[in-house]
Amino acid sequence: MQFPDDESCATYLEQLRWPGGFICPQCGGTEEPWRQTRCRLVCPRCRYQASVTGGTIFDKTRTPLTTRFEAVWHVTTAKNGLSAKTLERTLGMSYRTAWTMLQRLRVAMVRSEREPLSGLIEVDESFVGGVERGGKRGRGTRRSIVVIAIEIKEPKGFGRIRMRYVPDASGDNLVAFVCDVARPDAAVHTDGWRGYNELPKHGYLHQKSILSSTGDPAHVSMPGVHRVASLLKRWILGTHQGSVTAGHLQSYLEEFTFRFNRRTSRSRGLVFRRLLEQAVITEPVTEAKITHGYLW
Ligand SMILES: [Zn+2]
Repeated sequence: MQFPDDESCATYLEQLRWPGGFICPQCGGTEEPWRQTRCRLVCPRCRYQASVTGGTIFDKTRTPLTTRFEAVWHVTTAKNGLSAKTLERTLGMSYRTAWTMLQRLRVAMVRSEREPLSGLIEVDESFVGGVERGGKRGRGTRRSIVVIAIEIKEPKGFGRIRMRYVPDASGDNLVAFVCDVARPDAAVHTDGWRGYNELPKHGYLHQKSILSSTGDPAHVSMPGVHRVASLLKRWILGTHQGSVTAGHLQSYLEEFTFRFNRRTSRSRGLVFRRLLEQAVITEPVTEAKITHGYLW
């Protein structure tokens, strides 16, 4: 990384935020700003003091920019990402700071997944977890339902994914998920569960596999979903030691999705830049929202 101090980080963020030059958030003026401190620009027209981190997920946090950049670097370059515990150790910060920073970055990650899935898409539910908040494995455990959608490429291979934690596998939840993540002209492949019956009403070409009639186990008829589900479970158990509570499951799903959809990206530097680009246009997330679960 070529970011030795907060000044160089602030300059980089400024370029990401105003690629065509500074625009005053107050009056819209585009005159060259005065530079008061490393992070603070002053509009020469209305004297508004703009901060390069103001109004972004980097707003109002005391952690130095260099540390935050380092965190983003580790998050985007580590093959499987890293846990708050590892980040705490690596950057020598408190666990709480590390955890909050990761949660904020996950909010930025979801913002970069906007292009809906298209073509042939497999959709199925899977069960994740088993460790509740403060509980021990095996006691008070509950498995969470995650619905997974994945693009199937011809003649083979997988495209992008989307995932959502749902309270139950009702048609309301499943169809709403598909409508949110897939283009209306997509072909959706599901099993015979009636929760998917309403898909054609929303314009989808619906392909159903009735498992009992094909005789194939799920990993044969739904290879994409099966593959993603097993990678997801391994990631939660490996990188995060299984310590994902239901209330925060969705943010982990967003991070997994961000990683999976960039698995073939040759340049980690580009992924780093992409995440920072999202970070500067993602609105601040309050501490309370992060603690009690972010509404995705
Ligand atoms: Zn101004």
